[in-house]
Amino acid sequence: MSETIFNKIIRKEIPADIIYEDELCLAFKDVNPQAPIHILIIPKKSIPKVSDAVKDDHNVLGHLLLKAGEIANTLGVKDAFRLVINNGEDAGQTVFHLHIHLLAGRRLNWPPG
Ligand code: AMP
Repeated sequence: MSETIFNKIIRKEIPADIIYEDELCLAFKDVNPQAPIHILIIPKKSIPKVSDAVKDDHNVLGHLLLKAGEIANTLGVKDAFRLVINNGEDAGQTVFHLHIHLLAGRRLNWPPG
């Protein structure tokens, strides 16, 4: 499985502003925030993209979405936030370890770019 910077964050080999962690996932502040609140929620398992997920990943994928909602509640943004998953280079993915962007704290326009 491919190694990314997110694996190093999971192993605490490089610093990150971690706001939540459990046995399946980790959530930390994006280093280049696109909104006042910009959190990345990642599985501890190395799944490069959503399109690489397999049936056995059902539980962890559901867990990520549940935790995204809980984190939004914790941050006080439960009524206005956006979750984004970029899948593949042409969709804007730059780190090939599946992650959910949680964006909030400003007006979020539609459609996204
Ligand atoms: P994506 O373009 O969807 O693959 O998103 C990757 C995100 O990871 C970008 O928003 C980056 O700013 C963020 N990122 C990259 N390296 C780090 C890091 N060391 N700590 C926190 N966020 C990072």
